[in-house]
Formats: sequence, structure tokens, C-alpha cells
Amino acid sequence: MNLISKYQNGNYTVSLYDDGTKVRENDLNFFEADFPESMDIKITNRCNMNCPMCHEDSKCDGANGDIMSESFIDRLHPYTELALGGGNVLEHPDFYDFLVKCKNLKLICNTTIRQEHFMQNLDFIRKLRDEGLIYGLGISLSDPWQDGFIDAVKEFPNAVIHVINGIVAMQDLEQLRYYGLKILILGYKEFRRGEKLYENADAKEHIDGLKQDLYNYLPEIVYHGWFDVVSFDNLAIKQLKPQRIMSKEAWDEIYMGDDGLDGEMTSASIYVDMVKREFARNSCAVDRYPIMDDIKDMFNFLRGRNGLD
Ligand code: SF4
Repeated sequence: MNLISKYQNGNYTVSLYDDGTKVRENDLNFFEADFPESMDIKITNRCNMNCPMCHEDSKCDGANGDIMSESFIDRLHPYTELALGGGNVLEHPDFYDFLVKCKNLKLICNTTIRQEHFMQNLDFIRKLRDEGLIYGLGISLSDPWQDGFIDAVKEFPNAVIHVINGIVAMQDLEQLRYYGLKILILGYKEFRRGEKLYENADAKEHIDGLKQDLYNYLPEIVYHGWFDVVSFDNLAIKQLKPQRIMSKEAWDEIYMGDDGLDGEMTSASIYVDMVKREFARNSCAVDRYPIMDDIKDMFNFLRGRNGLD
């Protein structure tokens, strides 16, 4: 792997590599960031999939964010990693131009695309990769049996298949295992449509059953090397407790910090909804605030470090 960038953030050094690896280092036993080094950004609420568990409540006629005009983007630290999501990002008319702008600002764009949209737009996504406009590519799994899907994923060395705890079945994961793929397990979000679906007794029983299966099989998935990489968002860590299958030393070395789900925010990450022009600690947070001009102000505000909250 090749080093993309090495920079100082607060009391630690960040090294970023072209395969998506990030290393934080210092001689202390804690990391204190000065600015966010990664951001989860929603650019559109438009999507034609109408998934019942969609925690973004995205719709066919959902609004697009005015992504070319927001001034905080111009002030981000170079090499900030942006995880661009929606909705379906491919439906935003300025998506390509925005990626070009971000590249010129030396920002690192990653994006997540639903499997159907990924397969329907392969040529365009190849173009984004070849022009260095996207690094990481998340693909939200819907049908692991689709013809050509695994081969298409393997075309993208930095592709990660996203699955949701409580939605993905063990048969889905079995279908994908031993191909050298990477997966990211996301926690089930009881938020918006995800909350509504979970209120239905039959759906809840089904979701809880799938969650239990994944909890039980997680050691086998990891120990038997089903995937090259298995990663988790903070909510999935809460639900699946992957720290139970490794030593404390190994866990402390790989854990990237709390995102404020349960109070304290120790990660250097922030959520921005460019459609509603709001920011928050994470995409599930109910407490949201109007976007400010400078990302450092938003970050300090969320950490309660400028007396504003
Ligand atoms: S979950 Fe994703 S694919 Fe489904 S409606 Fe929401 S944004 Fe679209």
C-alpha cells in the first residue's frame, strides 16, 4: 500500500494509505483531535428503491442538497475523508462536479451506492475510479446471487460490501464468503422508516432473529476468514460486540473512537446533512444544528468546547 498523506491532527499523527488504511499515532494513551478527519455527508434524499427500513426516509421525489454552494467544504482540512451518501448519490445532478471540486481541494471522497444502482451504472463508476474522484466504494447489498455481481465488486480494490445487522441473512454472507471481499456491518437503525418497520411485531421478530444469527456466527466469520476485512460502524459494535472475540490489546489498537451515540464523542468524525443544511454527531442523532461556515466550529460545538451548548 502507498502513503497518500501524513498530517498532524491535535496531539496525534494521521497516516492515510491508498487501500483505505488509516493509522493514528502518538506517545500518549489518548487521541485529541483539532478538527474532523472524516465526515458522513448526505447529499440527496432522492432514491427510487423505497426500502422499508430506510432510516433516511429517501423517496423518488426527495430533495437534493445545494452541494456546490456550501462554504464549509472550501475550508476542510486537506485529506479529510468524505463519505458521501443519500438517497442515491447518482441521482444528484451535481455529483460529478462536486467530486471534481473535492479532488481539487485534496479531499478524499468515498461513496456508498445500492447494489442495483452500482450494477446499472458500472461504466460511470469505473470512470469515477479511473479519474481518481472516488477512493472507497461502499456497495449496499441486496442480492448476493445476482449474475456478475461478485466479479463487478472485485474490479474495485477499495470496494466494501455494506450489510445491515438484522437485514442480512447468514445465507447471504455464505454466498459471498471466500472471494477475498471486504464487508462493513452496519447497525440496524431504529430511526425513521427503520423505526416504523421495527414497530411491526412480525418484522421485529424477523429482524431480531437475523441479529441473533449474526451475533452467534460472528466468531466463525472472523476466525474462518470468510472475508478479507470485516469492519463495523459504531452501532453495529454496540449490537454485535466484536470486542468479545479479540484481546483487549488488539481491540484498543483498532478501535477508532465513540461517535457520540451514547454521549461522549471521541472519534474525529461528524455528520452533515446537506439537504436539510444540518449537522450532528452521527446520522441517527436527533439533536441537529444549522450548518456553520467552518467545520472546526461545528466540531467544537458538538464536543461542547466553545460554550455554545
Ligand atoms: S435504504 Fe438506501 S437504497 Fe433503500 S431507499 Fe434508502 S437510500 Fe434508497
